[in-house]
Amino acid sequence: MEGEMSKIRLDVKRSKFQAMGEARCPQCREGKMFKYPFWRVDKFSEMHENCPVCGLKFEVEPGFWYGAMFVSYANTVALLVVLGVSVFYIFNDPPIMYYIVPITILSLAIVPFNFRISRAIFLHLFGFVKYKPNHS
Ligand SMILES: [Zn+2]
Repeated sequence: MEGEMSKIRLDVKRSKFQAMGEARCPQCREGKMFKYPFWRVDKFSEMHENCPVCGLKFEVEPGFWYGAMFVSYANTVALLVVLGVSVFYIFNDPPIMYYIVPITILSLAIVPFNFRISRAIFLHLFGFVKYKPNHS
């Protein structure tokens, strides 16, 4: 048991999934993509142009973020389906307003989060950036 303790490293390396979920740079998995936390509704979309840690240009090619809109769209559709099915079963096939009201509120509420996670997912999966743990 004592031997195990000494193996724990201080510089924890994030997995690709973790870095994606935290919207961090795909190259170093440390630098944050966004300048402010997602609950800053006035500034949630402001990004660093380059990774503050390793300098990677996040918009790897011009117009790259247009692709992220499709991820965002897919997320929204997935949410609507899950929510729609849940409402159907929980309220036992209720009138249409039972669907419209919560779906409208929720899909608006997730806009900042969805915007960011979509860009992070798109950059990590389609940016084709190699992970370089020792960037410095
Ligand atoms: Zn980086």
